[in-house]
Amino acid sequence: IPDITLCDILQERAKQYRDNPALTFYDKVMTYGELAYAVEKFASSLQQQGVQKGDRVAIMLPNCPQYVIAYYAILRVGAIVTQVNPMLVERELLHLLTDSGAETIVIYDAIYPRLQAVRKDTPIKRAIVVSFQQAGASFSPDVTFEQFLAQGSGNVQPVPIEPEHDVAVLQYTGGTTGRSKGAMLTHRNILANVMQCAEFFKGTYEVGKERYLTVIPLFHVFAMTSGMNMAIYVGANNILLPRFELQEVLETIKEKQPTVFPGVPTMYVAITNTPEVEKYGINSIKTCNSGSAPMPVELMKEFEQKTGATVLEGYGLSEASPVTHCNPPFAERKPGTVGIGMPMTEYKIVDVATGTEELKPGEVGELIIRGPQVMKGYWNMPEETAVALRDGWLYTGDLATVDEEGYVTIVDRKKDMIIASGYNIYPREIEEVLYEHPAVKEAVAIGVPDQYRGETVKAIIVLKDGKEVTEEEIITHCRKNLAAYKVPRIVEFRNELPKTNVGKILRRALREEALRTDS
Ligand code: ATP
Repeated sequence: IPDITLCDILQERAKQYRDNPALTFYDKVMTYGELAYAVEKFASSLQQQGVQKGDRVAIMLPNCPQYVIAYYAILRVGAIVTQVNPMLVERELLHLLTDSGAETIVIYDAIYPRLQAVRKDTPIKRAIVVSFQQAGASFSPDVTFEQFLAQGSGNVQPVPIEPEHDVAVLQYTGGTTGRSKGAMLTHRNILANVMQCAEFFKGTYEVGKERYLTVIPLFHVFAMTSGMNMAIYVGANNILLPRFELQEVLETIKEKQPTVFPGVPTMYVAITNTPEVEKYGINSIKTCNSGSAPMPVELMKEFEQKTGATVLEGYGLSEASPVTHCNPPFAERKPGTVGIGMPMTEYKIVDVATGTEELKPGEVGELIIRGPQVMKGYWNMPEETAVALRDGWLYTGDLATVDEEGYVTIVDRKKDMIIASGYNIYPREIEEVLYEHPAVKEAVAIGVPDQYRGETVKAIIVLKDGKEVTEEEIITHCRKNLAAYKVPRIVEFRNELPKTNVGKILRRALREEALRTDS
């Protein structure tokens, strides 16, 4: 990995492809030359306002060109991008801003009042507000994004950056399993992961020719690397959409014919269940990268059959910038697995109890990883860091197996495992079976308290439009395909499942709900 930063890559692309589109946002297009210029202006403005190396600068925006400008400008001055999910409510926002110590935030009009509500208790001194003129947005900002950009002289004072040591991004974990932690990713980490992916997917793309469709949110590490940074690395035109609205996504695919689409399984569920999906020309997409959550095997088959596009399922986590595994584009794909390791990535499955003893192929243990994309540690959390990083290995908290050829199967998260009558049950296995039922659109299995068994399995199901099925039928289907102790005892039907805005099913919320109704 060369001793440079992502900003050097952007400058390079701006020289090579000055007039090529870099970003497309509805009818607006920004070229590589314009993007690099805006980054210099924004960076110089940050410096004029006193932002220095190591300062945290928060970004709380949906996908839009301003996101990319702010992100690269913050890196350019050696400050630390602090990624904030725009869905955070006041209490969470307060925690994140005080924890990170960010004094500057780039935010947008509609949620500016949320910041104002907690601001006096946070270190925030300056808010740079992107205006989308959204209905109901009333604010008198400290400064608008345009003003801030215009103020910049464009002359950035040189800042020495040590890519291996200096933190570039504070990536707060999704918090699906507990309190959100800020993973410190260095300049080396994020460049390494982009280069690892570029190497891994070599042959699937042509530099300067691709079109990305990035609708997964940029504040999330998957989109940061596989959407934003990869697109710049390969000199692509990145078509940004601020939210996943099915019809809009489909029309965009039809009209703009993207060639790369990083997505999460819930997006593929929605696309697969669209009537006449073939008319949108989804097969213009050469690579659909799926990550963040397991892609049920049945769903993948159905998606590929209906759309003609190919899914490459991968795996990663905030702590690894994030990609560590993926199914290879030119070797065997194994549905249900997350594929093999990225270049320069070592991994093994170890015994959960000892954390050191390496297990044999097929045995379930914790997946641990070592490579240049692995974080420096958690911000302000030395104890958590010591648990996650041991001897240079990242302990992922995910239970997995590896086969003889090095393909990894994520069995489940350590924390999601259900223990019923002393048996370990992995929700993922039950969910795979539920997805095989033709009426099931989405499914989740959780453990709920049970007087006799300790825990018992509950399935929560969303049915496909127009389908009807009884609890009994679901249970019979599971009995045929699962050992008795794994069969759900309770089946609930719902219209939708609670999700994070990255599309992950919020198991914790469902478990807590079950606990409340139980007591
Ligand atoms: P928190 O760790 O706070 O609960 P989070 O899980 O949302 O938040 P991320 O870093 O966004 O944090 O997610 C990483 C996790 O996502 C992995 O540890 C793994 O459990 C899960 N994951 C990612 N890709 C896959 C995949 N292809 N299959 C199964 N699980 C996956």
